[in-house]
Amino acid sequence: MAKDNASKRDPRYDILFEPVRIGPVTAKNRFFQVPHCNGGGYRDPSAVVEMRRVKAEGGWGVIFTEQVELHPSSEITPFIELRLWDDKDIPALARMAEAMKSQGALAGIELAYSGVNGSNLYTREVPRGPMSAPILTFYKDPVSTRAMDKTDIRDLRRWHRDAYKRAKRAGYDLIELYGAHGFGVVQHFLSPLTNQRSDEYGGSLENRARLFRELIEEGKDAVGDTMAIGVRLSLHEMGGLENAEVRDLIEMHSDLPDLWDLGHGTWEDCSGPSRFVEEGAQEPLVGGIKALTDKPVVGVGRFTSPDAMVSQVRRGVLDFIGAARPSIADPFIPRKIDEGRIEDIRECIGCNICVSGDMTQSISRCTQNPTFMEEWRKGWHPERMNAKGESATVLVIGAGPAGLEAARAAAMRGYEVALAEAGTELGGRVRLESRLPGLAAWGRVRDYRAHQIGQMTNVGVYFDSALSAQDVLDFGFEHVAIATGSTWRRDGVARHNLAPIAIDTAMPVFTPDDLMAGNLPKGGEIVLYDDDHYYMGGVLAELLVQKGAKVTLVTPANLVSEWALNTLEQIRIQSRMIELGVTIVTAQAVSAVGAKGVTLSCAFTGRKRELACDAVVLVTTRLPEDALWHDLKARDGEWAAAGIKSVRRIGDADAPAPIAWATYAGHRFARELDGEPLNGALSFRREVTEITAVE
Ligand code: ADP
Ligand code: SF4
Repeated sequence: MAKDNASKRDPRYDILFEPVRIGPVTAKNRFFQVPHCNGGGYRDPSAVVEMRRVKAEGGWGVIFTEQVELHPSSEITPFIELRLWDDKDIPALARMAEAMKSQGALAGIELAYSGVNGSNLYTREVPRGPMSAPILTFYKDPVSTRAMDKTDIRDLRRWHRDAYKRAKRAGYDLIELYGAHGFGVVQHFLSPLTNQRSDEYGGSLENRARLFRELIEEGKDAVGDTMAIGVRLSLHEMGGLENAEVRDLIEMHSDLPDLWDLGHGTWEDCSGPSRFVEEGAQEPLVGGIKALTDKPVVGVGRFTSPDAMVSQVRRGVLDFIGAARPSIADPFIPRKIDEGRIEDIRECIGCNICVSGDMTQSISRCTQNPTFMEEWRKGWHPERMNAKGESATVLVIGAGPAGLEAARAAAMRGYEVALAEAGTELGGRVRLESRLPGLAAWGRVRDYRAHQIGQMTNVGVYFDSALSAQDVLDFGFEHVAIATGSTWRRDGVARHNLAPIAIDTAMPVFTPDDLMAGNLPKGGEIVLYDDDHYYMGGVLAELLVQKGAKVTLVTPANLVSEWALNTLEQIRIQSRMIELGVTIVTAQAVSAVGAKGVTLSCAFTGRKRELACDAVVLVTTRLPEDALWHDLKARDGEWAAAGIKSVRRIGDADAPAPIAWATYAGHRFARELDGEPLNGALSFRREVTEITAVE
């Protein structure tokens, strides 16, 4: 880390900047970006390269790839990660290593043989695992593994050796074998759940660890002179390789790998959302492990607080502060700590929207960092904006996530910005939502931006300013962003009911806006109808139970909060509902609201039944608050005379969506100010597959 900044660093954080040796290589500090997916992988190699390069610039000591499939006999289609199947994959991976090392970080590659977790839908090879068993994937693909025989195991070892050598040729410093989250063959062999073999690779822990030992020893022989060989393991697998046995394993092989990178349990555990999992939650599982080995220990815990990081190191819990999501939300955490700019850290909110990009095989986005995965595609940098254009003034209307980000980013470019808010506080929807059960961390979306804007002299914030079209024309700012948000519908329309349903006015009906404004049903039996499928339904059910109501959650989906599968929250949400005593009715839609109850329609057959209740909460969908936009649009002939060059609606006022969409829209508005109109052209660079000549 740059010495000239060291003076600005609070000395109590010095320990985070100590170099740490990992086998034959040395990390310049203790900031360790653990492997993380990004939804780009082999499809968007340059996008991933530049994303990792930004982390290098941000000061991380170790930077890892996502999981890299090391052989075509084990791949995880439809997920898009990286591949090192043969020499053809080396150039893309080499570019990534070069980017990672560009500022002195170590370049790490996570090699994965997915075993029980790879269905091979693309390669059509027969999956292989320790035993014959159904494939364990999110999609429950109806295929099984072949139990590896000795020849298969010899092949597997050879393929690993080939991959080690290719990783070395690609310029990596450090290898981790993926044996965590249930996703890697190392774990599958170690676990008594997925390894019920009776030969020397099964049975006792020593036998189950045989493959692990062989792979590491052979790695050291192959490339260990210059590369470190570590392992990424789960600290706890319920009913399988539980924490006590993980400790035995580490004690038995304490100095065999050069590094122990320890994840929590399943991916859902390890990437625990803030709604359910606190910062540093891994500590009970990882504490004391350092005493079992002389090799460095890495752990994660959604660490964003440097004090929490220091505490982990000082108390001997961890050697390296592992981070995936915190490094996504703010790739510059190390540099900001080093430069004494703690207040500038853009803290991860633990929403797992980033994970949803991988789960949907789209490309990851981040609620807090709108530039994530746009570093190459759009040339966006998380800490730098493009130069200011020819105009001078910008009016942003509405101080929710879209408006706050638009104001912050436009001001960073150097525009004079006025932020007008109808209410008396910043934050819009996150101000309200962060008060709901478990969502306090959502407030960080506002807090980061409020702090940044507060430091700038070119942003004026105006409260109690519900602007009309006439106001906007009178002010005459050159560019106007309308970020006036959205309102939840109260007519039952969403995905199941595409037209309004019959609602008897004798039945009290509430929307999320009512509940967030403190207007709650007066107890009794409440039907909460969730045709939104993300977090709001479950969160409001929890709120109502806290207030003493008896809640029946009705959803036309087969699961509560079904979309939250993509954020790894669904299982926890449904468990929470069950534990709270919420009655869950799935595959049923509310098709009418009567004076004494609701009519339910089966989502499959349409068959109807009645359900009595005292009040109904409709969590359906939102409509944009776009009246101001339409008023202004109707008067666009007056814009030029008023000095207005452009008016754009952004965020929920344009099209309601999760918070991440709003921060992205705000950022994009600021980036594109004074730019050439796109006129429908693609707004980002993409990599197109090179067509092989027909032979
Ligand atoms: P988004 O998610 O798109 O940022 P939000 O609903 O969070 O949207 O925020 C919208 C904000 O806009 C709210 O704080 C609301 O008070 C404010 N607002 C709505 N209409 C006006 C208006 N005409 N003038 C100023 N502020 C407005
Ligand atoms: Fe954190 Fe959410 Fe960003 Fe993921 S999307 S890094 S969980 S703020």
